[in-house]
Amino acid sequence: MDNKVIKADYIWLDGASPTQQLRSKVKVIPCGQAVDLSVFEEWGFDGSSTYQATGHDSDLNLRPVCFYPDPVRGDGNYLVMCEVFTPDNEPHPTNSRAQLRRALEMGGEAQDPWAGYEQEYTFFKDGRPLGWPENGYPAPQGPFYCSIGSQVAFGREIVEEHLDMCLKAGLLAYGTNAEVMPGQWEFQIGYRGGKGENASILKMADETWIARYLLCLVAEKHGVQVSFDVKPVKGDWNGAGMHTNFSTKATRDSKSGMKAIEDAIQNLSQRHKEHIAKYGANNHERLTGHHETCSINEFRSGVANRGCSIRIPRSVATKGYGYFEDRRPGANANPYDVAFMLVSTVLNVRTS
Ligand code: ADP
Ligand code: MN
Ligand code: MN
Ligand code: MN
Repeated sequence: MDNKVIKADYIWLDGASPTQQLRSKVKVIPCGQAVDLSVFEEWGFDGSSTYQATGHDSDLNLRPVCFYPDPVRGDGNYLVMCEVFTPDNEPHPTNSRAQLRRALEMGGEAQDPWAGYEQEYTFFKDGRPLGWPENGYPAPQGPFYCSIGSQVAFGREIVEEHLDMCLKAGLLAYGTNAEVMPGQWEFQIGYRGGKGENASILKMADETWIARYLLCLVAEKHGVQVSFDVKPVKGDWNGAGMHTNFSTKATRDSKSGMKAIEDAIQNLSQRHKEHIAKYGANNHERLTGHHETCSINEFRSGVANRGCSIRIPRSVATKGYGYFEDRRPGANANPYDVAFMLVSTVLNVRTS
């Protein structure tokens, strides 16, 4: 064990605007002990190269907050999620995870919020969605959603490899499906109902970022790009969202469930604009009222209705308790921001 080293890929969010991007760098750590969080020490980086600092005062700190077995580099290596701190030991303004932690500490946690994220995305190659003809367009939408066959499903090899990697990393991967637009796919991270599984919203937001990271890495290997653009192709093609499913102790309780869901929707209806502001760049291109969306200017809720802002799944309405789906977040939204807004609004947590 003595001279053993591990590769730790430190992952963080940069300061790109309007959409933060993933960054990572690998640290080789001599390590002869059992691995826990303390093995991963704080590390610095050049914030002036990530839109997070100026050149004359550029050093920022990466503080590891959780880690996963690294399915890319293999056994004994780790992916390490980090928060960014300033030299004064304050969360950096781009540290949206710290803001979510604060909302949870200031009352959110008591309601035990869980989440499930449905992450849609589009593969690109040679400047066009994967599987699209060099000139012109594919057949109109219809046959592609959940499709099978090389004439309709494009990129499955990457999708399956990605799902295996998520499972190897121990993420709560819930499933995948081909989407309505050819070249577009979805993966879900979230509550699965397994015994002892923890689907708390902070953990699910972390895991959605790690799943995005793994997707980009697998696709890189295949020479394919991943776009989280909310409307990667203009016109009569579905956009890409990140539906966020949310529940609390009260919504999951068979006695209070439906009333708690109605109260949550009432609260959400009061803060529609504030939510939209945090739900991803260019979301107006996607939330048009067509293509299974509600217009960005309206707030609507309903059972089993995919033209709503908030959808109550049919199975939840039948049982009378469970969760609801916020259909507004775009594919490029930051899961920490979406979680922060849901926790703040639904649970009446005010952090400032
Ligand atoms: P859709 O029918 O909208 O396509 P999916 O089957 O893609 O839905 O995803 C369902 C999502 O709901 C998953 O991410 C799952 O983790 C999440 N989910 C299920 N139950 C709960 C719950 N009680 N609380 C929060 N999220 C949940
Ligand atoms: Mn889905
Ligand atoms: Mn979908
Ligand atoms: Mn959905």
